[in-house]
Amino acid sequence: MTEKILLIEDEEPIAELIALNLRMEGYEVSVAYTGYDGFDKIYEDIPNLILCDLILPDIDGFELCKRIKADERMRRVPIIILTARKGLEDKIAAMKAGADDFISKPFEYEELYARIEMNLWRSRRTYDIDFLTQLPGFLPFLDALSQKAQSQEPFSLIFVAIKGLKEYRQVYGEENLENVLKFVGETIREVLKKEGTKKDFAAVVGIGKFAIVTAPERADHFAHSIIKIFNEGVRSFYSLGDLERGAITILTRRGMERTAPIMTVHIGGCSNATRKINSMWDAIEIADEVLEYSMGFTTSSYFMDRRKQYC
Ligand code: CA
Repeated sequence: MTEKILLIEDEEPIAELIALNLRMEGYEVSVAYTGYDGFDKIYEDIPNLILCDLILPDIDGFELCKRIKADERMRRVPIIILTARKGLEDKIAAMKAGADDFISKPFEYEELYARIEMNLWRSRRTYDIDFLTQLPGFLPFLDALSQKAQSQEPFSLIFVAIKGLKEYRQVYGEENLENVLKFVGETIREVLKKEGTKKDFAAVVGIGKFAIVTAPERADHFAHSIIKIFNEGVRSFYSLGDLERGAITILTRRGMERTAPIMTVHIGGCSNATRKINSMWDAIEIADEVLEYSMGFTTSSYFMDRRKQYC
C-alpha cells in the first residue's frame, strides 16, 4: 500500500521539487500552497504523514500542528516541520505545538526519506494503525474510551460489525474481502468527517468490527448514515447474478450447496447518558450485548441500549 504524504509549502518551485522526489521514492503526494488549503486537504483525504513548511502566507506550521493535534480524528498523523531556520527556539516551539519531527532546509533527500520512514514506522507502532482501513486499532481505542469513561462527559460507544464476511470470502476471495473492509473503514471515516466533531473517535477492534466513541446526540446519526452508505455500497462488491438472487452460493465441506445472504451491517451501542456506566469495560460489555442482539436481524440494523438504570 502506498503511503500518502501531504506537503504544505508555499514556494511553488520548492514544493514541486520535493513532491517530484517523494513521488520517485514511491510515495503518493498531494501539495498545498497555503496553510488553509493544507487544512482542507487533510480533511478531504487523511494523509499518512504531513510535511509542513514553518512559514506560510496564512497560518504558520505551528498553528497548523496545534489544530491537527487537537482533533481526535487527525492527531495520529505525524507532522514533520520544514524550516530554513536552524534555531533551537523554533524546534522547541514546533515540538510544543505537537510536531513529531523537524528538518532544516536545505536538507539531503536521503535524510528526508529516513525521517519520513522513521515517523511513519513510529506512528504505526504507537497508534497501532490498521493497514487496510487506516483507522487506529484496539489499544488506541481502549485509550480513547478510558479517557471518556473517566471524564464526567456524556458519551456513547457504538460497535459496528459486518455480517456475512466469512461466506463472502469463501466465494469472492481474500482480495475482494479486503476491499469490502477498506470500504467500511472509508465509510466510517467519511461519516465522522462529515457529521462528527474533533472529539469523535473511530477504531478497528476486530475483523469486520469497528468501534466509535462519540457524544450521545451524534450516535444515531452516525449509525443511520453508516447503514445507508453500507447498504448502497455493498452491492458493488457482488456480481449481478448474486444481487438478483439476493444471495451467494457456497459449497460446504461435504460438497453440498448452501446460500448465504448479501452482507449486512449491524450496530449496537450504549451511553452513560441513559444508564450508569462504571468503567470502560462496562461500556464494552453492554455495547457488545446490544451488538449481539442487533446481529440477530436479517437486515442491517441499529440498536442502542435503552434500559434506564441509574444506581
Ligand atoms: Ca515558506
